[in-house]
Amino acid sequence: MKLGLLTMAVLFVAATTAIAQFPEPNGGDVERGVLLQKWMTGGPKCMEVPEWQVHEYNPNFLILRQSGCSDYEKPFLYLIFGKDRALLFDTGSRDGNLVPTLQRVVHNWLERNGRKSISLIVTHSHSHSDHVAGDAAVQALNDPAMPVTFVTPKVADTQAFFHIASWPDSPGTVDLGDRVIDVIAIPGHDTVSIALYDRRTAVLLTGDSLYPGRLYIHDLDQFQKSTERLIQFTEGKPVAHILGCHIEETSTPFLDYAIGTIYQPNEHALELSRGDLLELEDGLKALNGTPRRVALADFSIWPIVKRDYSMSDSTRATFDKTQAEQLKNKWDQPK
Ligand SMILES: [Zn+2]
Ligand SMILES: [Zn+2]
Repeated sequence: MKLGLLTMAVLFVAATTAIAQFPEPNGGDVERGVLLQKWMTGGPKCMEVPEWQVHEYNPNFLILRQSGCSDYEKPFLYLIFGKDRALLFDTGSRDGNLVPTLQRVVHNWLERNGRKSISLIVTHSHSHSDHVAGDAAVQALNDPAMPVTFVTPKVADTQAFFHIASWPDSPGTVDLGDRVIDVIAIPGHDTVSIALYDRRTAVLLTGDSLYPGRLYIHDLDQFQKSTERLIQFTEGKPVAHILGCHIEETSTPFLDYAIGTIYQPNEHALELSRGDLLELEDGLKALNGTPRRVALADFSIWPIVKRDYSMSDSTRATFDKTQAEQLKNKWDQPK
């Protein structure tokens, strides 16, 4: 069959148009979820603030935030459900009283899914006191609806549980049942820091190693290598959000809340992106190995020079002043 030039041109245009329309929008095969632009902090009236804010990113991915009224660190916790097991990332800071809320949430999930029980893996972003304070209470839980497997926040236990062949270089995994979570060792903020990548939602949880706030770095060389490891790991993978464990930044670029702040009415959003990971890497490279504080638009690089993890004198002075002021107004913070 001989086709005229015009027919060929029409066929060519039709074919390229069809190609241009592929692929159909499908959200990149990523399970969607919703974040909040404003989270509960610690006020203005502590009488009205619940101990924990529970937010459903989607029905199988929950975010819990501790109230600033019980501790200024007000960390975020993550609770992810698979078909066979659930995973809790951190147990909160001082005076968090997590267990009643955790039990209520898991029981609600079981009721919603017509289930009698689900086993719960309890693991940690790292070992600092504002992320493990609920450990003893969670370990003491004796609830047949949610038997606990507890992973001690130590390198050997974390490495063994997640089958990390070579710490910190190779990633490990845990399968919650039709839901594989990748575990990437990222020492630097703490020796046992890990990040989790949830393949279903494409959410990357980075603990205290990347969040909108002061990134305290205890080992600069390790921290930089860990940042590079995360960049490499995420290369070519979808990343919906990077979610850390605190918010200390305000919604104004380069400006953070003073350490010890309870009530943060204008705080930065929780979520960061893979672009922020690249910006962190650029900032670390610019240090050339010399520890120095650098404020960036959405977080700051804050190397800790003291080996004993204690606050510097100036940080301690800011903390004491801020806490005194905020605690005095705990029941009615100025707007
Ligand atoms: Zn920490
Ligand atoms: Zn922390």
